[in-house]
Amino acid sequence: MTTIAFIGLGNMGNPMAANLVKAGHAVQGFDLVPDNLTTARKNGVTVMANATAAVKDAEIVITMLPAGKHVLSVYEDIASKVQKGALLIDSSTIDVESARKAHAVAGKHGLLSIDAPVSGGTGGAAAGTLTFMAGGAPEAFARAEPILKPMAGRIVHCGDAGAGQATKICNNMILGVSMIGVAEAFVLAEKLGLAHQALFDVASTSSGQCWSLTTYCPVPGPVPSSPANRDYQPGFAAALMLKDLKLSQEAAQGAGAVTPLGAEAAQLYALFNALGHGDVDFSGIINFLRGKSKQ
Ligand code: NAD
Repeated sequence: MTTIAFIGLGNMGNPMAANLVKAGHAVQGFDLVPDNLTTARKNGVTVMANATAAVKDAEIVITMLPAGKHVLSVYEDIASKVQKGALLIDSSTIDVESARKAHAVAGKHGLLSIDAPVSGGTGGAAAGTLTFMAGGAPEAFARAEPILKPMAGRIVHCGDAGAGQATKICNNMILGVSMIGVAEAFVLAEKLGLAHQALFDVASTSSGQCWSLTTYCPVPGPVPSSPANRDYQPGFAAALMLKDLKLSQEAAQGAGAVTPLGAEAAQLYALFNALGHGDVDFSGIINFLRGKSKQ
């Protein structure tokens, strides 16, 4: 049994913390939202009054927060209060620069740290099947791996500090671009009088094959489990896709990478969000490409 502090018990954090409790760990949690603390308590988490209280005696500290500024502010608060030898794991999706700053704060206090963002969404968080992509020193990763296991389907060490976040935004830039590509192809198919199923049957086993088509098909029918079959309820909300695409574009500008399709995808998801569809699954962008707000 390990004593774990869990800070940020929202849609992702609460089910993740619940899986750590189920695995036999003592989890001390904190969130700013009282309802989230009530859920955490029901899941067996020991609810603490603030982040500083949560990290007391913790060997591991996990953060699952909205953005870089929240992570840095929590790290500044807790870094001097965490016990010597503790490991900090940040699983939030944040910009690479803030992730590296968070590692530096930990390092300044002699603490090991990894950035370990996830993919798999709230379903994966509840099922304990998230993919973790980790960045940090090998000894930090080695300590983190057994702790992450009860929450994970897959854990990959991607490189040094920030490499987990870099992987996450590159992956999600592929996802945003490929979803738009797949959606455009279905819209064209409709105009050409081609059945959705016919396009799917060929493209899913041909060179057009990709996850946005075969797992998350943006039209109802071919993949019964995709959000298109339940009126585009997320799934992965368009607001979160926009967040990740913006992070990819910030990183691209900072690093001098040319990502014109990523930039276009960010613009299209910004428009989709501005039209009030931020809480729709990101595959719902197909309706926007049809010039409609709904199916
Ligand atoms: P969420 O908004 O539901 O949860 C974040 C929680 O952090 C909130 O409950 C908020 O009250 C809490 N918080 C903010 N500042 C805090 C502070 N100073 N101290 C304590 N708690 C604080 O968001 P989420 O959906 O759980 O996502 C969390 C992170 O995971 C985000 O970075 C998101 O991009 C990423 N992510 C989300 C999904 C998803 O499908 N929801 C998938 C992959 C990654």
